Amino acid sequence: MLQNVCILGATGSIGQSTLKVLAEHPEQYAVFAVTGFSRLDVLVQICQQYQPKFVVVPKALQDQLHQACFEHKITQTEILTDNAGLEYVASHPDVDVVMAAIVGSAGLLPTLAAVRAGKRVLLANKEALVMSGDLMMQSARQSQALLLPVDSEHNAIFQCLPESYCVQPNIEHFGISQLLLTASGGPFLNMGRQELAAVTPAQACKHPNWSMGQKISVDSATLMNKGLELIEACHLFAVPEHLIKVVIHPQSIIHSMVQYIDGSTLAQMGNPDMCTPIAHALAWPKRIATTVPALDLFTQHRLDFQEPDHFSFPSLNLARMAMKAGGVMPTVLNAANEVAVDAFLSKRITFTAIPEIVESALSRIEYSPAMSIEHILAIDAQARQIASQDVSQKGR
Ligand code: NAD
Ligand code: MG
Repeated sequence: MLQNVCILGATGSIGQSTLKVLAEHPEQYAVFAVTGFSRLDVLVQICQQYQPKFVVVPKALQDQLHQACFEHKITQTEILTDNAGLEYVASHPDVDVVMAAIVGSAGLLPTLAAVRAGKRVLLANKEALVMSGDLMMQSARQSQALLLPVDSEHNAIFQCLPESYCVQPNIEHFGISQLLLTASGGPFLNMGRQELAAVTPAQACKHPNWSMGQKISVDSATLMNKGLELIEACHLFAVPEHLIKVVIHPQSIIHSMVQYIDGSTLAQMGNPDMCTPIAHALAWPKRIATTVPALDLFTQHRLDFQEPDHFSFPSLNLARMAMKAGGVMPTVLNAANEVAVDAFLSKRITFTAIPEIVESALSRIEYSPAMSIEHILAIDAQARQIASQDVSQKGR
């Protein structure tokens, strides 16, 4: 039966890869709704090719999009705006699958709307889960939403777990001893602190193996991406933080591993292309074809592994600390990081100031349990304010 897909963040890197996978399977999937925050030309092209029922943009872009649709004779697509529009399409009764691929905290409410509506939610927007953690997992259990990981590491772990793990997420029951989260190390692997202080946004966004949006590219360069992923894995797989080990693996061929108490280590491998985890999460428990070439082990004959350098890349340990502390601390970590990354991208602070700003926010907001989504949004705003002040002080 044809499944209706809603793509939150269709103009981004994950959104575009999702459309590419869907285009290969028009008999199985229809694009029902798409959303974008900018790049109207891309949205118009998507509307022409996929003819969605709805497109969601910020209110400020509504008239411009209306005009562009008129000029391109797009008549089948209704334009909605802002958060109300995002939540409406994410929870629409005709939608079967929601791809949550908005970047950052802006994705929280629409992702949550999809979860609460009991959809099959393909989770790329890790920040939403980092911010809301237990509350999102609880909502998913209540609504029986199927929360499937698209982040390549979590998708790999999911593939290495027994199929019934999602019904009964219990590491002891299944004899799991540890999760190994692999990290490429980013573009600055093996650089020291002094050298890192002088790197530019353009250098940070040039990832050696993956082509991604700017924010996650910077997060990969600081290793905060792995920190956010550590928190994401704790929630998705109900595993305590101390049983998740980060392994630097520069080739990005093994996407993560699960170790069992009998000495087995299961790994998922493949060429680094997000179409693979997207296709897996779309079709699970079945498989659908992608254009990603099969791994050729004769050309890829070497796999290396090393420990992370916590001195030059302190972000990973900050995330571990925030997860260990629990409550609202991961929300604080995420908000301060978003502010700091934004400031680095617009050349207001140095690369090495990013973890300093995150650490300062974590030390200045006290622990409290996360009571509700409203509470989380208030803490998010408070952490942003503190981090913004720090940015102005450090600013050049
Ligand atoms: P991107 O910057 O390429 O795209 C982001 C999308 O979000 C765009 O469609 C943009 O229009 C939309 N958006 C941005 N700000 C918004 C706002 N305020 N309100 C509504 N929409 C907004 O990012 P990406 O690389 O595709 O990443 C998307 C998410 O997926 C991130 O959370 C990222 O961590 C995660 N992810 C990405 C990759 C990857 O390979 N790119 C891999 C794993 C996980
Ligand atoms: Mg990842």
